[in-house]
Amino acid sequence: MKKDDCIFCKIANGEIPSATVYETPECRVILDLAPANQGHALILTKEHYDNIYQLDEETAGKVFSLATHVAKAVQEETGCEGLNIVQNNGEVAGQTVHHFHMHVIPRHAGDDVQV
Ligand code: 5GP
Ligand code: ZN
Repeated sequence: MKKDDCIFCKIANGEIPSATVYETPECRVILDLAPANQGHALILTKEHYDNIYQLDEETAGKVFSLATHVAKAVQEETGCEGLNIVQNNGEVAGQTVHHFHMHVIPRHAGDDVQV
């Protein structure tokens, strides 16, 4: 299901243009508007799930598998020394957009990224 007032539904389904780096039938991978580091990517599901609790097992498998590919691509593209995969659920955990997504954040020695 799509949610009418959800910005990530619109981005994931191409209604709002975005810096898309990869796409599958289930997901769109975009660059974060306010990157924590250069190359910070977001994996968005095309269907709307508020958070990880709503994700069905089949979709979860596809999304987490895609995350491994995106991690390798981001590492190769940015030459980062390390990388964080972050996935926030609930405001107390830092979730600001209530549509399931995963952050892929390249890390470099001495950077000051808070995750
Ligand atoms: P959260 O805090 O919910 O885990 O992460 C939301 C992320 O989405 C933030 O890193 C924020 O910069 C990013 N973001 C919010 N709105 C937009 C947008 O319209 N386009 C893109 N590309 N990123 C967005
Ligand atoms: Zn949504």
